[in-house]
Amino acid sequence: MSRPTQIRIDLNALKHNCQLVKATAPDSQIVAAIKADAYGHGSVEVARTLQSEVARFAVSCLEEARHIREEGIDVPLLLLEGCFSADEYTTCETLGIDVVVHCETQVAHLEAVTLCQPIHIWLKIDTGMHRLGVMPKHALALWARLSAIPHVTVSTLMTHFASADEIKNELNARQLHRFMAVKQDIHEASPDAIFSTSLANSAALMSIPQSCGDFVRPGIMLYGLSPFNGTHAIADQLKPVMTFQSSVIAVRDIEPGEYVGYGNTWQAQRHSRIATIAAGYGDGYPRNAKSGTPILINGQRAKLAGRVSMDMITADVTDLKEINIGDEVELWGQNLNANEVAHWSDSSSYELVTRMPTRTPKTFLG
Ligand SMILES: *Cc1c(COP(=O)(O)O)cnc(C)c1O
Repeated sequence: MSRPTQIRIDLNALKHNCQLVKATAPDSQIVAAIKADAYGHGSVEVARTLQSEVARFAVSCLEEARHIREEGIDVPLLLLEGCFSADEYTTCETLGIDVVVHCETQVAHLEAVTLCQPIHIWLKIDTGMHRLGVMPKHALALWARLSAIPHVTVSTLMTHFASADEIKNELNARQLHRFMAVKQDIHEASPDAIFSTSLANSAALMSIPQSCGDFVRPGIMLYGLSPFNGTHAIADQLKPVMTFQSSVIAVRDIEPGEYVGYGNTWQAQRHSRIATIAAGYGDGYPRNAKSGTPILINGQRAKLAGRVSMDMITADVTDLKEINIGDEVELWGQNLNANEVAHWSDSSSYELVTRMPTRTPKTFLG
């Protein structure tokens, strides 16, 4: 028998979540974020599953774009950080990639290259996150420079929210307002300009309906995880796509006062039963998960006991019904939400799913 540690990727859940995006933003087209290997879910399989449902796939860099093209997927792509050098625009032209332009340097690169066909540019405005994007006061001038380049079509005006997961955060309205003002400026300066808009990530598309625009850009929502802290009417209908599973490989009873694991950080307060599970930080389980983190064993909730090792974790199963070697363990997934585990390790479900190592094999269902 091979090591039982693996992640199951439920492609039917992925389709379900995509339908929920459509139902939530029925007037928008979808740009599905598949950067970082589709948040650790496998970008090729995710792209194959969603290719007839979406208008674009969003990637971070050309390497990710090439990987998708090499697998024969020909849906247009969107390069989220844009090009790092002028020559990359030629590759984008060849591969059919729309490109974000977020700074003046990228405008200058575009002015310096020659392309055979117009490339579609998404001009990104920094409306308040202050990470990427041109400042609103420079938007009009850069728009004009881009529009003057023969091989450029400025197809979309975009921005990104900093705190859309916090529904009451007043920055959301401020960012929306600044974006609408830039859009208005461009319409006034060039009344004939036709362009689309794109603002919303998962959190915004679920909580700020006015932000949906022509293209929504869901990521985490497609993978079935909620960007919100508490309950949410739409997010609660999502189905987690990734299930991280393993099994029990040892069980022992220990006396009160005995310790478990490296650094003896967990001490038995009573006669305790400890189960050892074949998954550790080398498999993608967060090393800083605290004792008490929930773990599902045979569908029952156990608690992490002691430090996470590279290849194993230990759980207190004293209060559970009979536990045996070979019993099924879910570290997170369809029955134990990754957000709950993330909470116990001061992380986010985004990070947990995205940083799964290659050692942990994936099985695709559906
Ligand atoms: C990653 C990303 C998204 C998707 O964000 P989620 O919170 O996962 O929905 C959308 N837009 C941009 C610019 C991104 O970088």
